[in-house]
Amino acid sequence: MPRMVRCPICRAEVSWEGNPHRPFCSERCRLIDLGAWAEGRYHIPGKETKPEDKPEDDDDDESP
Ligand SMILES: [Zn+2]
Repeated sequence: MPRMVRCPICRAEVSWEGNPHRPFCSERCRLIDLGAWAEGRYHIPGKETKPEDKPEDDDDDESP
């Protein structure tokens, strides 16, 4: 009898064994959960740009 878990996102019952996305039913639900977490953490009101906007300073490094 397979051990079942309930997906916290869509509430579907999925088997625990052999499920790479556990406790989620699929990668989709896993990404939804990850996205919800990231959105709550990185949401900046009034700014629709990238969450991390650090400049890459690889250009001005010319060593002779
Ligand atoms: Zn799910």
